[in-house]
Amino acid sequence: MCGFVGMISKTDVSGEIHLALQAIQHRGQDSAGIATMSADGRQFFLRHGLGTVAQVLLQKDLDILKGPGGVGHVRYPTIGQGTLEDAQPFFYRQPGVLMAHNGNVTNYRELQDSLASRSIHLLSHCDVEPALCEFADALMAARPANHTLEDAIDALRKIHQRVKGSYSVVTTLMLDGIPTLVVLRDPNGIRPAIVGQRHDGAWLAASESVALDVLDFEHSFTPNQGEAVFLRAGQAPIRHQLESGCSAPCIFEHIYFARPDSIIDGKTVYEQRMGYGRALGERIRAKGIVADVVVPVPDTARPAAAAMAEELSLPLREGFIKNRYSGRTFIMPDQITRNAALRLKLNTLPSEVRNRNVLLVDDSIVRGTTLRRVINLLRNAGAKSVHLAIHSPPVRNPCYYGIDMSTREELFAAQFDGPIDAVEPKAAEALGADSMTYLPVEALDEVFGSPRCGACFDKNYPQPLSESMQHDIAADRRSARDNESA
Ligand code: SF4
Repeated sequence: MCGFVGMISKTDVSGEIHLALQAIQHRGQDSAGIATMSADGRQFFLRHGLGTVAQVLLQKDLDILKGPGGVGHVRYPTIGQGTLEDAQPFFYRQPGVLMAHNGNVTNYRELQDSLASRSIHLLSHCDVEPALCEFADALMAARPANHTLEDAIDALRKIHQRVKGSYSVVTTLMLDGIPTLVVLRDPNGIRPAIVGQRHDGAWLAASESVALDVLDFEHSFTPNQGEAVFLRAGQAPIRHQLESGCSAPCIFEHIYFARPDSIIDGKTVYEQRMGYGRALGERIRAKGIVADVVVPVPDTARPAAAAMAEELSLPLREGFIKNRYSGRTFIMPDQITRNAALRLKLNTLPSEVRNRNVLLVDDSIVRGTTLRRVINLLRNAGAKSVHLAIHSPPVRNPCYYGIDMSTREELFAAQFDGPIDAVEPKAAEALGADSMTYLPVEALDEVFGSPRCGACFDKNYPQPLSESMQHDIAADRRSARDNESA
């Protein structure tokens, strides 16, 4: 998972891109980068590195990153080695184009072979690089220089034809002699994107609306699935619907990944999570589960827990305090240090849970390892019973579109067959909870209220994926994970 920002203005943009990137830092802390283009399109500047925005991009870097157009990126590696070579943005010399993206290109290896057959070779394992190469190649095939808007539209059509998977892309280049920011969404609009305008004529595109808020941009519009948008400072946007696939935005953004104060595809993430909590509360009541207090696993589960507590007329309490300053914890050799690592991040408040029946709320279960220990922490703090409530359905299928769960063997719920009622007691036992309640897919859909991708729950992938693609993506993910823990 990653986050991007693209900006076009009449003045230098790197300082503002830096701020916008910090607003979406939760989308990736593995690498950060900004690239800019000069007003005449003759010079490009790129700074990227491994780490967070504040660690990687210093004032001396911003001083070098000149130009009124540029793109920025924060990365969480789901595919690729996660090395500096994979850090975005990417730059292609001919015709001079910058690109950053969020998503997962599912036919990366096929594209790599196709590009090699045209003597175009990649410098990274990052899946945006083939898309950039295809775009640049198509532009150069149209004409060697002075590219036009029509050239770019044709080249972007080729991206849609050749590049499969999920991708929201921002790119900066000269078109018709004017610095232009281009936003492109895949034909199903799986990954989010939003565009905003400011009173000074500047345009900003980003993965999440919080990046717009921090710089006082109005939320202008959400690009449609399969749409390309061309933005120039002080001018009206030019929108081209290149393809009209079914809309299938990732529902996991709303459940877990996005910031609660973001608006994605017209829906406020906070309100969505409240809706899931209310629906889950109704199911808890129908099941006759008795609790004294509702406790969220911080931070994502808070809105749903608050709504559930309201629904059930129960007190909401913080049973855990999260340490915002704990760093990454590495593989721990024994149980004592593993528990210490967890308590460094999450410590219990025994006064809120002792001798109480606790309704513990979390957003989802992917691997289940942390949750098992969280339940244990509550028991050690004196909870009488722990009833687990998850505001999403069981995750039983890998994601091939950019969320970090691309191998079936790592998914906790994949070990349980059958309908949700049959899964819940087995899952509760496996996690050491007294009971467990998931939110069924139907209830999730009722709250979401529009088409979505929820393939990790229901296996309905919005794009067909061959066995070999699934195998390649899982292998790449394993390699990225091995690299992370090495
Ligand atoms: Fe999102 Fe799940 Fe679809 Fe992946 S499979 S894009 S995580 S909804």
